[in-house]
Formats: sequence, structure tokens, C-alpha cells
Amino acid sequence: MGPVADADVVVIGGGPVGLATALYAVRAGLVPVLLEPRAAPIDKACGEGLMPGAVAALGRLGAPVTGRPFLGIRYVDGARSVEARFRGGPGLGVRRTELHAALAAAAERAGVEVVPRAMSALTQDPTGVRVDLDGAGPSSGVRSGPSASVRGRFVVAADGLHSPTRRLLGLDVPPRGVRRFGLRRHFRVGPWTDLVEVHWSPAGEAYVTPVADDEVGVALLGSGRGSWQDRLQDFPALRERLAGAEPTSTVLGAGPLRQRSRSRRAGRVVLVGDAGGYVDALTGEGLAVGLAQARAAATALAAGRPQLYPRAAARVSLPSAALTSGLLASTRTAPGRRAVLTAAHRAPWLFDQAVNALAHD
Ligand SMILES: Cc1cc2nc3c(=O)[nH]c(=O)nc-3n(C[C@H](O)[C@H](O)[C@H](O)COP(=O)(O)OP(=O)(O)OC[C@H]3O[C@@H](n4cnc5c(N)ncnc54)[C@H](O)[C@@H]3O)c2cc1C
Repeated sequence: MGPVADADVVVIGGGPVGLATALYAVRAGLVPVLLEPRAAPIDKACGEGLMPGAVAALGRLGAPVTGRPFLGIRYVDGARSVEARFRGGPGLGVRRTELHAALAAAAERAGVEVVPRAMSALTQDPTGVRVDLDGAGPSSGVRSGPSASVRGRFVVAADGLHSPTRRLLGLDVPPRGVRRFGLRRHFRVGPWTDLVEVHWSPAGEAYVTPVADDEVGVALLGSGRGSWQDRLQDFPALRERLAGAEPTSTVLGAGPLRQRSRSRRAGRVVLVGDAGGYVDALTGEGLAVGLAQARAAATALAAGRPQLYPRAAARVSLPSAALTSGLLASTRTAPGRRAVLTAAHRAPWLFDQAVNALAHD
């Protein structure tokens, strides 16, 4: 690896939110350097439903994606279901590899320097942050090399759910409550609806997102840690839909999903995306919220005022976090799920309003 120039902003993690942060930083007149040990395009366990707000943000960032449009959300509990359609344009089901490739290409066009190394340590002083680099990152395929460091006036940690930066800064909050996990897999089958379907069962939820005209992605969420086959048994109607359909990807997992950070800032370091905390995948807003945080971080750092970021991040994250927490708590039991569906049936405008309020940026 050649020498790495000092930067205005060192972005740790080149998932979608880290790449978007680097793009917003360039637009704000900053020079970013991005650290990502894994080779592109990166795949990840995800429901792959991009809310309309996220689709619009990607277009504005010069990273348009095609995917397959979906027009709203349907919640299904046995024979009962309720749905709401987006009023201001569709969402998109997009394979993570396609999303990553689009953002990586936009970053390359914008001249973002990407260093294929992992962050291993951080040292802050009054004018900047030194970021030490690992010889090789986790499962990166990158050969070990001499250790090196890169310095930035600021650092943005976009290193995901189990953020090593969050841990190193002592910002991790010990987990409490039910631990939930997610698994995802794709199947060669024509989508049977133009909505994202969320199936409820006593064991958790199954998310079905159309990602192509002949392919759907399925994400299983819940507290169980069984195999894909075991967990699919909890969703008989879905199992029937998928019977005989050829799997088109391997099973990938993630969790525990709930992660908390004491703060989204420590000195000159700010945390964006899942690194700053995550509630759950139930409402499918991780990417929309993460992209909005990326923008807020670039704005605060371009003003030289990282202290502005936590409030700006809370503004774009709280509505979704509150809805997700509320929905999780109220749908943990069968009577709770029935009550939510009944309420949504009785006051469809309210359900419609909630879905649409969160769908747009
Ligand atoms: C099962 C499941 C279903 C979901 N469904 C949806 C959905 O339908 N819609 C939606 O919008 N969201 C969904 N989400 C949430 C979404 O996947 C995340 O919010 C999103 O991936 C966050 O992006 P990120 O860039 O913050 O983190 P990530 O995508 O996790 O990227 C973090 C990056 O940091 C890198 N990294 C880690 N450590 C280091 C280090 N030390 N140095 C340098 N780099 C490092 C990693 O290699 C990785 O590439 C779902 C999540 C799960 C688990």
C-alpha cells in the first residue's frame, strides 16, 4: 500500500453509510479517506427494502440503483393483514451487492481514496485524530502489510452494528432485553405482490422484498438462533410460497440487532449508521436513517462543529426508533399483534400516516 495522505475526514467503514458519508463530505468541500478492509461489492444480511426517502437520497448522491419497485408495506398475521401504500413514489428492493457497487462507483467518480485496511486504534489530540490501520481486516482477503496510520481533522465511524470504534471509545451500552437476530436468503420466484410483506408468527417476523422480476429476498427476524429451515417452519404460508423455488444466495446472519451507544460523538469522532446504535430491522429503515445521518455528519464537520451532529442525528433517527421500539413491544404477543392489526383496520389513515411519515426524508 502506498502512503495515505492526511484527510479532513477519515471514514471508518465502507458500507452504504460510510460511502454516502464520503460522498456528502466531498460535496461539502472536505477531503475524505475511507477505510474498508472487505473487497467490493460487499454483501450483508439485510431485508434490502430501500424506503422512498433512501431511493431519493441515492439519486441525489449520484448513485442511482434500479432494483425492483415496491409500493408499500403489508403486515400479515395468519389470515389477517393490513397494508399501506406510499403516497410519494415507490421504494426499491435492491440487492446489497448492487447498492454497494453503485455507491462505490459514485465514490470512485468523486475521487474518494479508499484504503483496503481496517482501523485498529484511535488517538485524539486537540487538532485531529490518528487512526491506526491493521495489516489486514476481518475476512478481507487483504494480505498483511506493515502497520500504518492516517490522520484526519475528524473521524466518522461507519463501521456497522458491532462498531469496533464504538467499543474502543467506551461508548458501548451493555445489551438488555430480548436479543434478536436476522437471517436472509434469496429465492428464484416471481414476486406475488408489489408490496414488502412482513409475516408475523409467535417466533418472530419474516420479511419478503421483491428484488427482481424473478427473485425475492427473505429475511427472518426473531430471538431464535435455529437454522434457516427451522426458522422458516414458523411461517407456513410463506414456506408454501417458497416450496420448490431455487435458492439464489447463501444464508447470511446478523445480530444481536439491538445495539446502543452512550453518545453519537466523542470529541472529534462521530458515529453514523448502525455504528451509532440500532433498534431493529422490523420497520426496514436502517438505510434511510443511515443516509440521513451521513448527510448530517458531513454538514456538521464541514462547519468544523462535530458537537452539532448528535442533535441533528437524533432528529433524523428518533421517529423511526420510536416507531420500531413501540411496534416491537406491542407485537411480542399474539394478542398484541391482533390489537395492532385491529387498530390499523379501524383507523387505516393512522397506519397509512405512520408508514408515509417514515417513508420520506
Ligand atoms: C436482517 C436485517 C434486515 C434488514 N432489513 C433492512 C431493510 O429492509 N431496509 C433497510 O433500510 N435496512 C435494513 N436493515 C438495516 C441495514 O442493513 C443497516 O442499517 C445498514 O446496513 C447500515 O449500514 P452501515 O453502513 O451503517 O453498516 P454496514 O453495512 O454494516 O457497514 C459497516 C462496514 O464497516 C466495515 N468495518 C467494520 N469494522 C471495521 C474496521 N475496524 N475498520 C474499517 N472498516 C470496518 C465493515 O467491513 C462494513 O463494510 C436490516 C438489517 C438486518 C440485520
